[in-house]
Amino acid sequence: MLKITKFGGSSTADAGQFRKIKDIISADPSRKFVVVSAAGKRNSQDNKVTDLLYLVNAHRTYHVDCTPLLGDIKARFVEIADELGLAYPIAEKFDELAEHIEEYTPEFVVSRGEYFTGQLMAEWLGLPFVDAADVVVFHHDGNLDMERTNDRVQDVATREGRFVMPGFYGATVDGEIRLLDRGGGDISGSILARCLSADLYENWTDVSGFLTADPRIVHKPLPIHRITFDELRELSYMGANVLHEEAIFPVREANIPIAIKNTNRPGDSGTIIRETTEEGEDEPIITGIAGRKDFLAVHVKKNHMSTKVGCLRKTLSIFERYGVSIEHVPTGIDSFGIVVNGEDVKNSIYSIVADIQREIEPDEVKVIDQLALISVVGRNMARRAGVSGRLFSSLGSRGVSVRMITQSSQEINIILGVNNDDFNRAVKVIYDEFVAKEQAAKEASRLNQERFGKANPEGKVFS
Ligand code: ASP
Repeated sequence: MLKITKFGGSSTADAGQFRKIKDIISADPSRKFVVVSAAGKRNSQDNKVTDLLYLVNAHRTYHVDCTPLLGDIKARFVEIADELGLAYPIAEKFDELAEHIEEYTPEFVVSRGEYFTGQLMAEWLGLPFVDAADVVVFHHDGNLDMERTNDRVQDVATREGRFVMPGFYGATVDGEIRLLDRGGGDISGSILARCLSADLYENWTDVSGFLTADPRIVHKPLPIHRITFDELRELSYMGANVLHEEAIFPVREANIPIAIKNTNRPGDSGTIIRETTEEGEDEPIITGIAGRKDFLAVHVKKNHMSTKVGCLRKTLSIFERYGVSIEHVPTGIDSFGIVVNGEDVKNSIYSIVADIQREIEPDEVKVIDQLALISVVGRNMARRAGVSGRLFSSLGSRGVSVRMITQSSQEINIILGVNNDDFNRAVKVIYDEFVAKEQAAKEASRLNQERFGKANPEGKVFS
């Protein structure tokens, strides 16, 4: 068993978090590589070290003295080292950086957040430090050089023991530091997992995995225990963010599952993401609900459109001309809708509609704005009859009017358009109908089994 274990910034924020990581790493020797993010926020008012380092660069750009800021960042590291009694000369190393700050590239400066966190973590865990600059290789155009990276990862992995590597950065063959996207520590871990064909990529954060709905809308939503990569993609795209989207691709190609775990509650089961999940009796109908507001739909109606060729293509090319990316295209016989992000067309919608009028000569063009899209995601929906009936009647009976419906060809989600104002209510209704109700039924059935199971040889469940 070989695991790649990545800890995000909330897990490395202070000495207390370092202690938790030590417990997690000591509990399982198969955790071969420990990838760390720069120390993150210790509380909601706090700053992430990476954000402060970006701020240092902004000061440099505008020739503003950044000495006090560098002092704050140094203090974060020194506090961790002092509290844990570490010997790494962090104060000296940081002073060196501060003294020569003008000589370094902005990428180098930002990467020091992960670098120093990694150095401290390596000593704390008693494991060798591997610099990501020697392992993760970038082409000069900024893309990853997977071939070289793979060779270097293999080289390190043949050595005995376990390692700590900072995430988020790498270097070109000439040693120039390059950064991944923000939150890219997730990608570093995923790359290592892929190169080593790990059995599992563990991503430790401050939540116990993905939730079935946004906790700002639904009170204490249930966690998602199992999810497929496709479902995750749908939910993340619609706003459920725990993992960097790009982190999925390297492991997915190699069929490596990802476990999302909570450093603060390591006993929680978290979420496991894999290509397919086993189909058990107990599988929920709906995996999760996510959504976003402020979409806009342009509905085009043209009589006998079904017999004319090219209307849809021409309309799509108008949007393309304005550089607008299309979210969904629900279609009817003589009509179709084009759904886009409201923000993307805020300056061009009148021109787009005028072009449609001129080039397509439709019978009607209607613009619906303030549209919220809700994606109800569930791999098990396709195999069960009556799901959409239940969905729409629950919304209807609670007075939520559905303005648009579409479904992905894989049948793993149903996308609903509702007015922005109905968004929260609609999410709650769907959650109650499919998650809370199912959960309550399961719980009742479990209690019945427990109480009457033995006295009920046929195994009937009382409800
Ligand atoms: N420290 C970097 C950031 O804040 C990368 C990461 O945390 O994964 O974006």
